[in-house]
Amino acid sequence: MARIIFTNLLEAQNIYLFWIKAHSGYFGNEQADHFAKQAIEISSNVLTLKQSISHLKRGLQKDLLTKWQKIWTDGDTGRSTYLIAAKVSFKPLHWNREDILFFTNHGPFPIYFHRFKFAPSPFCSCSEIGTPLHQATSGVFTLSWHMKLPAIQLQDQ
Ligand SMILES: [Zn+2]
Repeated sequence: MARIIFTNLLEAQNIYLFWIKAHSGYFGNEQADHFAKQAIEISSNVLTLKQSISHLKRGLQKDLLTKWQKIWTDGDTGRSTYLIAAKVSFKPLHWNREDILFFTNHGPFPIYFHRFKFAPSPFCSCSEIGTPLHQATSGVFTLSWHMKLPAIQLQDQ
């Protein structure tokens, strides 16, 4: 409503706004007071909220999550994170620094260095692609930190 009024004021060349002393018998001011009091006393469907604020908030949050989920599902960035956290939520994941580096691929990995043009190729020196999973399970330079390679069907988990 404020935007419509503002637009009308901008477009109308014959309307001028200025301050006047209140309750001094100006016809237009008296009319404005009259209609303002009338608007308060007469219930109007335009300003009536038929639902509680909490209900509206819940509905807006649900819509927001639906839109966010669609953007996250259809997106083409952050796909390594999407494999782990496919469902959007307001709850934090409580990942520590190492989790973030590993799950997002944003760490000291050949694939990351190549993506941001710090390395000529995404390959590890053993000629496999230098993913975080490769570094954690079979890379030759990380041998002392290796964990057992999970079965293929469990790698996403
Ligand atoms: Zn390697």
